[in-house]
Amino acid sequence: MSYVNDVLGKLQHKFSHQPEFLQAVTEIFGSLSALFEREHRYQKYNILERIVIPERNVSFRVTWVDDKGEVQVNQGYRVEFNSAIGPYKGGLRFHPNVSEGIIKFLGFEQVFKNSLTGLAMGGGKGGSNFDPKGKSEGEIMRFCQAFMNELFRHIGATTDVPAGDIGVGGREIGYLFGQYKKLTNRFDGVLTGKALGWGGSLVRPEATGYGAVYFAQEMLNEIGQNLEGKVCLVSGAGNVAIYTVEKLLQVGAKPVTVSDSKGMIYDESGIKADLLKDIKEVRRESLETYAKECKSAKYTPVSDYPKDHNPLWAIPCFAAFPSATQNEINLNDAKNLLKGGCKCVSEGANMPSSIDATNAFLEAKICYGPGKAANAGGVATSGLEMSQNASMLSWSFEEVDNKLHNIMKHIYRISKETAKEFGNPNDLVLGSNIAGFRKVANAMIDQGIV
Ligand code: NDP
Repeated sequence: MSYVNDVLGKLQHKFSHQPEFLQAVTEIFGSLSALFEREHRYQKYNILERIVIPERNVSFRVTWVDDKGEVQVNQGYRVEFNSAIGPYKGGLRFHPNVSEGIIKFLGFEQVFKNSLTGLAMGGGKGGSNFDPKGKSEGEIMRFCQAFMNELFRHIGATTDVPAGDIGVGGREIGYLFGQYKKLTNRFDGVLTGKALGWGGSLVRPEATGYGAVYFAQEMLNEIGQNLEGKVCLVSGAGNVAIYTVEKLLQVGAKPVTVSDSKGMIYDESGIKADLLKDIKEVRRESLETYAKECKSAKYTPVSDYPKDHNPLWAIPCFAAFPSATQNEINLNDAKNLLKGGCKCVSEGANMPSSIDATNAFLEAKICYGPGKAANAGGVATSGLEMSQNASMLSWSFEEVDNKLHNIMKHIYRISKETAKEFGNPNDLVLGSNIAGFRKVANAMIDQGIV
């Protein structure tokens, strides 16, 4: 049995209770056999068994008081996965299904994604099973403060720099930063996604969505295609989805769907970005409101979805941008996309396609941009925010957007070249996994057995 399969076999036994983490590990290990056959020192230094264990895994109690005066308890996590190429970097997720396994899957992916950006960032991730839905402004603030009461001792501008993810946007980053400053008496670039007036970067809110569209353009350019006039499907209605829709409209494409945890919108005439932003970012309401206020939109609640597939992915399209959450595209959805003429999938979300859905895209030889490459624009721009904080400068929108665009081109190029080097030029899963892994593994060897 090869070293890669041997280690994977042990992990499948050890982490059977963390299916998402195992899925992420299986997906990356699936690309590594050819590399290990060429490069024996990775096995000599037992890199695989080392790289799957976080350098530090902090799990903590978060206690806070709700509006009724009742004491609430949540679980907090910060997984500091790998610091071989830079300080730990990765978002915080507040969602009721957050568990150690979910945070570990996200942290593991983050290690290789951050490596692909070419910036000096290690990988980490954190969060809580706190559900922000239905909470008052005061409850959100008190929860963020309670969360930071423990997190502050583990983070730092050159140690670990968290950011947002599902359920953590600009408002939450503000409350977290305020409490960090109160506890430490330091104004450090210790979080990214900050507001512009106190250390944030232009383009950070837009970066993941814009980056996923830039990545799709790079893939399509290679085959002489583009997005102009093309029907696109977007899932999600949060940060990533909103700015994917905005950039698609800017480049002349036609995004026709968005979705949230309660249902989906299909608007054949094209999603209205301003209305979407107002409902989701300002009013914080469900997409049902969108259908009430836009006559051309059709709303389908989740309760009307069939059991075995998501109707959003059954709409004929040219390109798809999954931007909601993990495993939102199963094999049936992938088949529906392919049947509907989809030629390009650029993943805004982390691990939105199951392993068999990913394989279906690869077998169909469509342009397939896996999340760790296609959605790396967000963390890359967080890296740019860190650079601006460290040099006490702020760059213009055009400057940051240009840098983001160039980073997405770099990620595409390095993934494509690596895929070619290993004999399968169309497989960006292979290319991005090997390119991301190799840089981290080499750094770990350089730095000794630590
Ligand atoms: P947000 O919290 O801003 O938005 C998430 C959106 O997805 C919400 O509209 C939410 O619905 C919807 N959603 C969540 N779960 C489901 C579900 N099961 N079915 C349908 N819709 C669902 O998060 P982000 O936009 O920041 O993150 C989206 C994805 O992108 C995640 O996988 C995240 O890890 C990934 N990502 C995010 C980055 C960033 O910069 N923010 C960077 C790289 C990746 P509702 O509105 O009802 O809550």
